[in-house]
Amino acid sequence: MSKQPSPTPASNALSSSIPSYLQADNLGPWGIYLQQVDRVLPYLGNLARWAETLRRPKRALIVDVPIQLDNGTVAHFEGYRVQHNTSRGPGKGGVRFHQDVTLSEVMALSAWMSIKNAAVNVPYGGAKGGIRVDPSLLSRGELERMTRRYTSEIGIIIGPTKDIPAPDVNTNEQIMAWMMDTYSMNEGATATGVVTGKPIDLGGSLGRRDATGRGVYTVGVEAARHIGLDIATSRLAVQGFGNVGGVAARLFAQAGARVVAVQDHGGTIYREAGLDVPSLLAHVAQAGTVAGFLQAEVLANDLFWDVDCDILIPAALEQQITHENAGRIKARMVIEGANGPTTPQADDILQERKILVLPDVIANAGGVTVSYFEWVQDFSSFFWSEDEINARLVRIMKEAFAGVWEVAQDNKVTLRTATFIVACKRILHARELRGLYP
Ligand code: NAD
Repeated sequence: MSKQPSPTPASNALSSSIPSYLQADNLGPWGIYLQQVDRVLPYLGNLARWAETLRRPKRALIVDVPIQLDNGTVAHFEGYRVQHNTSRGPGKGGVRFHQDVTLSEVMALSAWMSIKNAAVNVPYGGAKGGIRVDPSLLSRGELERMTRRYTSEIGIIIGPTKDIPAPDVNTNEQIMAWMMDTYSMNEGATATGVVTGKPIDLGGSLGRRDATGRGVYTVGVEAARHIGLDIATSRLAVQGFGNVGGVAARLFAQAGARVVAVQDHGGTIYREAGLDVPSLLAHVAQAGTVAGFLQAEVLANDLFWDVDCDILIPAALEQQITHENAGRIKARMVIEGANGPTTPQADDILQERKILVLPDVIANAGGVTVSYFEWVQDFSSFFWSEDEINARLVRIMKEAFAGVWEVAQDNKVTLRTATFIVACKRILHARELRGLYP
């Protein structure tokens, strides 16, 4: 048997020093991620010697995205694509268009994708991309030109076997269609597998649109069973009523739950008897927000956190549950539909208060799971039925959740730390098997 090479210790003088924006004391999403990694180190056994690999993105590309605006002037946007880890397979993760996107945020989101993909055991590493832009200020033509130029710029590192982008905040099926077309034009051949979350007519998958919300619902039902919570008589509060929150609310309501409060960027609404979710979805499709829905009371935004409920689903943005509101939450269970909605301080408060948190890295993994199905279908050009897709999705989510639950019980740790234990072990085991090149 050949001896395993020792990984270079972090203190080796030849290692490049870690820049300040990668340090754990740096506030922001990357710092939060590093703290999460620190918490898991004691549980990794011998694999901990490879842990430095989790603390450094494999590759980070910053691109300038110049486009001609409709008024004839030229605007420059900053774009990113970060591949955090590719030990288990190609990079995989969404693309976000938002005015607050930074390199630190994209690095953290790419790392959480590594964890998530390993947690549900799909054969991917983790990646993420974004452009710092407020897309609501662009015309459709400007949005298309920006998307195409960005795709061309990151084209040197993405591809169906290298790194596969998908939609995230403010990106959708149309953006994926433009990305697929641009990459294909540059390659000289149609490459449907370069992105997922595409329109069905371009190789998209049935069931993808509902997948994340369906995953949130599936793990919610499993966890409810463990803590003796009856979904059919439960009360739900949902923040964010888009792709994730809207679908999750619909599925819980179909199972008999009362959705008593919903908050989105436009405001907060409440109805003690339960909101009529299909009517609310129709209202949002037309008005773009839950605000103005007539069959509900209006609630001050801050009172959302005091709502009497059994299940709270944050499904909007990062860092919403903080040390300021975590003490007020009444729910027995928080299901993180959004990525990074709970700060580490808030996590500790919820744990002390015995409120169960189903962490993002497992709870919202349904989207990437069906993205994986889409990618597989594109490679074989053979497409599955929606029932088949939903059944496979539910099976993967249930199995992954059961594994994480067991690790949490065995080690007496939170489900977040348990998910990190399962995922980091898989990533670092792959790292060890592959060894170092050269
Ligand atoms: P979306 O754009 O469809 O919906 C976002 C929702 O958040 C909207 O209802 C919006 O009004 C609301 N929102 C925005 N700002 C808000 C604020 N300040 N206060 C309250 N609500 C606000 O986005 P989405 O795809 O549903 O994504 C939501 C979250 O889920 C993000 O964190 C995303 O990264 C995460 N996520 C999405 C997927 C997916 O497949 N779509 C998968 C995994 C994780």
